[in-house]
Amino acid sequence: MNKRVFFKKIFAILLISNFIKIKKITAKEKVTKSKEEWKKILTVEQYEVLRNEGTERAYTSALNDEKREGNYYCAGCNNKLFSSKMKYDSGTGWPSFFETYPDAFETSTDHKLVYPRTEYHCSKCDGHHGHVFDDGPKPTGKRYCNNGLVLKFVPEKIS
Ligand SMILES: [Zn+2]
Repeated sequence: MNKRVFFKKIFAILLISNFIKIKKITAKEKVTKSKEEWKKILTVEQYEVLRNEGTERAYTSALNDEKREGNYYCAGCNNKLFSSKMKYDSGTGWPSFFETYPDAFETSTDHKLVYPRTEYHCSKCDGHHGHVFDDGPKPTGKRYCNNGLVLKFVPEKIS
């Protein structure tokens, strides 16, 4: 092997290993637990929403009226989902947001009702949080209709 080929090879290896490192940092680490493990850390009602795609009754969440500055985290895994700046009063009876933190959620289509709805779940623990609709306020036009039971509100400075 001559010197040039040797250095080319080293360079390629360095590039590839760097790429792998970057991928590891950007991809959210998934939280996986067994049914029993989830039941240990969640209440019965939280388990029903997060792991069985249940929905809390409208107007039951204390977070409907929460107006303080702070962040909303996933009750299952502490993933940061929303800030108080993204919240608005939709009048639907569930805490509502027009935006989320980047990569907080993943979506899928849910056919439980006659019309298909877009279900969204936490990108870290896959826990179900709610449905997203296209009747939200500007600038996004989105309404993230979230179960308050599975949100943990932390009053804190938001950046
Ligand atoms: Zn989560």
